[in-house]
Amino acid sequence: RIAYVNGQYVRHTDAAVHIEDRGYQFADGVYEVCEVWNGNIVDVPRHLDRLDRSLTELQIDWPMTRSAVEFVLRQVVRRNKVHDGIVYIQVTRGVAKRDHFFPADDVAPSIVITARRSSPEAANAQAEKGISVFSYPENRWPRVDIKTVALLPNVLAKQAAKEKGGKEAWYVDADGCVTEGGSTNAWIVTKAGALVTRPAENGILRGITRTVILDLIEREGLVFEERPFTLEEAYEAKEAFVTAASTIAMPVIRIDDRIIGNGHPGSVATRLREQFHTATDLQAV
Ligand code: PLP
Repeated sequence: RIAYVNGQYVRHTDAAVHIEDRGYQFADGVYEVCEVWNGNIVDVPRHLDRLDRSLTELQIDWPMTRSAVEFVLRQVVRRNKVHDGIVYIQVTRGVAKRDHFFPADDVAPSIVITARRSSPEAANAQAEKGISVFSYPENRWPRVDIKTVALLPNVLAKQAAKEKGGKEAWYVDADGCVTEGGSTNAWIVTKAGALVTRPAENGILRGITRTVILDLIEREGLVFEERPFTLEEAYEAKEAFVTAASTIAMPVIRIDDRIIGNGHPGSVATRLREQFHTATDLQAV
């Protein structure tokens, strides 16, 4: 495998950043994950728009031009012969003597780009079974709208879910509302057939997959309600599912000790999953 690190393509096993990189010291950095599907990188413009927003919010400069990032994305996917999988971009504030204050202007941000294959067959087999999720108290900082690498709360929530036999955690806030998953956005379909997801204005990351699903919902003329929903409402839902670049739409068949719907992947989630790539921007590599 090949990774891109600060201007060079290196063997993945040798790829490294300095121990005083601020990503390592302070989790002072941001990232993006794009799906690679059927030899295409999915929704590059939207991911780079969000990267730009995350960088701006943290006052980190682009490490190189946006078009250079696009070029390297394609190179890394191509050099690793990834036909289906993900490509990962990480930008940190750079290497500087450990000190909380931002470093001097001459410190360049670090950039790392890697790509990894995954099996579409395995993912589809999982989607045919559905996943279990477990609720977890929301304990993250209020700026979860920024896609930072500071993911320790997400790691702990997901690990707790895994230890109960689940694949994802659903954060529940002080009002009893589901915010989002540990690495996904959360959706339900009500008994009346309406799709519900939380507004992206607060408490969640504005998922690119979420945005694509919203486009699909509009195109298909499905009933949609953008509003917070409680864990109790989710227990009673006809369907539930999660969305992320790495999972697309993944049906949820169990939340905590409650079976959702008839305990099988729902038809709405399954159809959105099947149609997903018809609503995405695809860049051939
Ligand atoms: N919410 C969180 C906390 C995430 O980490 C992610 C993706 O990693 C998402 C939502 C989904 O975002 P996207 O659809 O852009 O992958």
